[in-house]
Amino acid sequence: KQTLRPEVIDLSDTLSDLTHLLNRLVGEKVCLELDHDEKLLEIRADRRQLDQVIMNLVVNARDAMPDGGVVRVETRNVILDGALERDRATVPAGEYVTVRVIDHGTGIGADKINKIFEPFFTTKNAGQGTGLGLSMAYGIVKQTGGFIFVDTVPGSGTTFTLYFPVWKQEK
Ligand code: ADP
Ligand code: MG
Repeated sequence: KQTLRPEVIDLSDTLSDLTHLLNRLVGEKVCLELDHDEKLLEIRADRRQLDQVIMNLVVNARDAMPDGGVVRVETRNVILDGALERDRATVPAGEYVTVRVIDHGTGIGADKINKIFEPFFTTKNAGQGTGLGLSMAYGIVKQTGGFIFVDTVPGSGTTFTLYFPVWKQEK
């Protein structure tokens, strides 16, 4: 098991470092569009795990668009004035950095949406998917005190949204 090394991270640096790799991962038919908030606040996470989460979301987006298209990765500083309730989770009021991975692919059917975060749930052929990506992503994001949500429209596309609490120096 790998050791966790939480560091203070500027997600725009992480994403810049990953851009080359992400472009290679999506291949020629898919175009990657990055849109970062001007000055992202810092979060605290294990850099390698964070890379894994983002790579998996981008590969999933690619796989959902066999005919190609655009995958958009958006980062934002977000202030929640009040708690956000969704999908049986409560995101406490406070400051967050959000990452959205947006595709215009197949979408996820109602029969599958409740299973995608379960380990080993996959709709991919053997050798192409382990079904572990999203369950790992879920665990990793939780580990940082964050949240992961999915919005999907079958036949139209999917957006994964991650909330990472902004890191504040301990007083
Ligand atoms: P894997 O990619 O190995 O199948 P994941 O845990 O990453 O495992 O994803 C589980 C399943 O969730 C996928 O097999 C797919 O059915 C569905 N899924 C995940 N992301 C998307 C997406 N962006 N669009 C459509 N379906 C998706
Ligand atoms: Mg995957």
